[in-house]
Amino acid sequence: MVFFGDYHTHSRHSDGRQSIVQIIKAARERGLQEIAITDHGPLALGIGLRDAGVLAALRQDIDALNRIYTDINILLGVEANIRDLQGTLDIQDLKPLDIIIAGLHPYTIPTAWSDGVQIFGQNFLRHASRRQRQKAVEANTRATIAALDNNPELDILSHPGLFYQVDIRAVARACAENQVLFEINCAHGYPPASDIMIAKEQGVNFIINSDAHFTRTVGQLDYGRAMIERLEIPPERIINLRGRGGHGNWPKKAKDCTH
Ligand SMILES: [Zn+2]
Ligand SMILES: [Zn+2]
Repeated sequence: MVFFGDYHTHSRHSDGRQSIVQIIKAARERGLQEIAITDHGPLALGIGLRDAGVLAALRQDIDALNRIYTDINILLGVEANIRDLQGTLDIQDLKPLDIIIAGLHPYTIPTAWSDGVQIFGQNFLRHASRRQRQKAVEANTRATIAALDNNPELDILSHPGLFYQVDIRAVARACAENQVLFEINCAHGYPPASDIMIAKEQGVNFIINSDAHFTRTVGQLDYGRAMIERLEIPPERIINLRGRGGHGNWPKKAKDCTH
C-alpha cells in the first residue's frame, strides 16, 4: 500500500520540532508526491501560530519552495481550532491556504465564555457524573458538526474524538454529508478500530495522515495502513493512496458550489 501524500504536519511555526525544508526533504526521501504543512491555528494557547498574519509570509515561502523542489507538490494549510458551538474556526482569512484541517484542541480560546464552559469546561468535569459527561459529549459533538456544516472550505476533520469525546456516529455522518475527510491520525494512533468501523458504516472517505511534529515521523502512516487492512476498508475510500492523484482531485462540496 503506497501513499501519494501526507496532509498533516507541523513545523516550528507552531509546536513542531522541524523546519519546513526538513519536512519537504523527509517527504521526498519517503517517496511522497505531495506534502502539506499544517501548523496549528493561533488560538490554542502554547501550540499555535504566533498570529494569523504569519500565513501570508508562509504563502510566499511555500511558493518559492515549490519552484525549488519540483518533484513534490508542497501545500500550505492549517490545523484550525474549533472555538464554539457554532463551529467558528480560529482562522478567518482562508485565502492564502491550499488545505484546511480543523479539530478540537485543549487550551483553545473560545469566542464566548458560555461556549467555553460548555465545550472546554465540561470536559474537565467529565469524571464528575454521568450526566455531566453526557453534556460534555453533546457539546463537543455539536461544536464539531457545526464546524463541518458551517465551513464549506474544510477539507479534513483531524483525529475525531481525540482530547474531547464525541458521538462518533453523528460526527462521521456529518463528515460524509459535507464531504469532509475523516482522518486516521498515525501520531496519536487515533481513532481506535471500533470508531473507524462506525465511520466506515456511515460512508465517510478517509485520509491517513502522520501529524508529524518530528522529521522522523513525516510520512509515517503505519497505524492507518494496519487499520485499513484489519478492517478491510476498500482502497477507493482512502483519498491519499497513490493512484488517486493529489489534493486537486479530491471531491469537495465547496468546489461544486456555483454561487
Ligand atoms: Zn490536532
Ligand atoms: Zn496536528
